[in-house]
Amino acid sequence: MLLVLSEAAHDYLLTLTSGASNSGPLTPAGLTAQLNSDEDLIRLWLDGETIFEGIGKSQAIAVVSESAGKGGGTPIPFVAVSASSDGGIKASFTPDSGGVKIECEIEIVRLDTDVFNRVQGIFDTGLLRPKTVAIIGLGSGGSLVALELAKSGVGNFVLVDFDRLHAHNISRHACGLSDVGRYKTRAVRDKILQHNPQAQVICHEVDVTEANELLCQVVVDSDLVVAATDSEVSRYMINEECLQAGVPAVYGGAYERAFAGEVVRVIPDQGGCYACVRQGMARVVRSVSADQVFDYTEDTEDNDTFQAEPGLGMDVGFIAMIQAKVALMTLLRNENSQVGDIEAQMVVWTNTPRPEDGKLFSEPMARYFINVPKSPDCVACGELAES
Ligand SMILES: [Zn+2]
Repeated sequence: MLLVLSEAAHDYLLTLTSGASNSGPLTPAGLTAQLNSDEDLIRLWLDGETIFEGIGKSQAIAVVSESAGKGGGTPIPFVAVSASSDGGIKASFTPDSGGVKIECEIEIVRLDTDVFNRVQGIFDTGLLRPKTVAIIGLGSGGSLVALELAKSGVGNFVLVDFDRLHAHNISRHACGLSDVGRYKTRAVRDKILQHNPQAQVICHEVDVTEANELLCQVVVDSDLVVAATDSEVSRYMINEECLQAGVPAVYGGAYERAFAGEVVRVIPDQGGCYACVRQGMARVVRSVSADQVFDYTEDTEDNDTFQAEPGLGMDVGFIAMIQAKVALMTLLRNENSQVGDIEAQMVVWTNTPRPEDGKLFSEPMARYFINVPKSPDCVACGELAES
């Protein structure tokens, strides 16, 4: 039997078992224990901690002190906890009234040292803890980017999406069937907390195209904006707000059926902006017309005319991973990290070749970097816009 418990629950039990209360039933107010008999697993945590909530098939069980477990009247099954000789705690599990105790192996989940120890050495995750990333659009692309940034240690998220999760979303989305019907913001928030329980997550269920004031506030409060929306209008609005606030933004989108896709990074006053990129792309790449770009979220705004655009989750995933990596590079610019950075404003990724659309799309699993200079006649960042 494995007993997994949070560090806070462990410290709490240590205090209780090492003190005078060792001789009677514990009074574990605010303590929850869940048994999953199929997997020989018990999880233990304090109320308010989110780390084990909603995982797997399990039943609530009692927690008692070792000595209380030997007496009658104890609800069965139960886990008995006591002080161990090495200064920690030990535990045994009693499954039935036969009284046979099963010793538990104990695993303590230490958020500070355990959760991110596999990324330490690549960069200091402490650098990302104070950062705030706004993710606008939480479809297949945005949800995957959110999760990757959470796994990397980003400490603060602002999630913006007005839509709920539908069954047709889940073949490409970070969330699954158990989240169908929920707001995508809330469902993704819970996924973020599963990977980074200390993250602060604020959710806004609004359409940014109808909430300019909120968009402005969200951008101003962020170190980086991840734009993963499905409409060009919203992207142009995000572009203008970010340019004005001097906040970098990373845009991601899949082209038709996710055969290819793009990631655009805009750092204000360094190269072209999102509008410059669109202007330039329209000239050079015929297939990337405004109509075909961005089925990144899978939903159209008009549900009556909804038509599912086919596209593999993994193909969207490649593009989302590039967007997440560029976001990470941007957050760690000028910091001492081994993540690296790119010069180009734009990355085009091809999943499935379509040579008829040009050299850019002639090979599978290929990427191109594209430099996009600032366009003097850009409506967002050009001379006309500034005057
Ligand atoms: Zn521009």
